[in-house]
Amino acid sequence: MDRKSYTLDDFAPFIGKGGRPLPAPLPNAEDVDPLEFLNALAAGGHMMEPVWGYTLLPDGSRPQWTQLFLSHDANMGFELSGRGYAVSYGGGRYDQELRKNIPAPIVRRFAICKHEQVLAAGANPDRGWRPGACKHCGMDMTIDSGD
Ligand SMILES: [Zn+2]
Repeated sequence: MDRKSYTLDDFAPFIGKGGRPLPAPLPNAEDVDPLEFLNALAAGGHMMEPVWGYTLLPDGSRPQWTQLFLSHDANMGFELSGRGYAVSYGGGRYDQELRKNIPAPIVRRFAICKHEQVLAAGANPDRGWRPGACKHCGMDMTIDSGD
């Protein structure tokens, strides 16, 4: 299989410009605690590519303002990994007891492919040498943490 890497074009179907056509739902999306996301941003933001656009809300009802952070993969020379975070504007709700507005951002993690590595011939995991590619999309997932 050819070595696959991801580009912005791979994300285009999921990031709308506000009109038609509607974006496709974010693939393999799961909710993330907003505070957990902030920690991930603080630790790995330097390996994320910011992209702004409209993504479909989790209930699929309509596109919503979203700041995306596309993850780079340090093992691949900082090419895009096909994964990322999406932070959508969620407005908020008024809490009667607290007498204030509670903001409700929608934070999701998503992945075009849920990568699973298949080790290539010559792999030597005991020495930290783990060449191989994703069995679904072919992305190079070689890890060399060897000595
Ligand atoms: Zn994959």
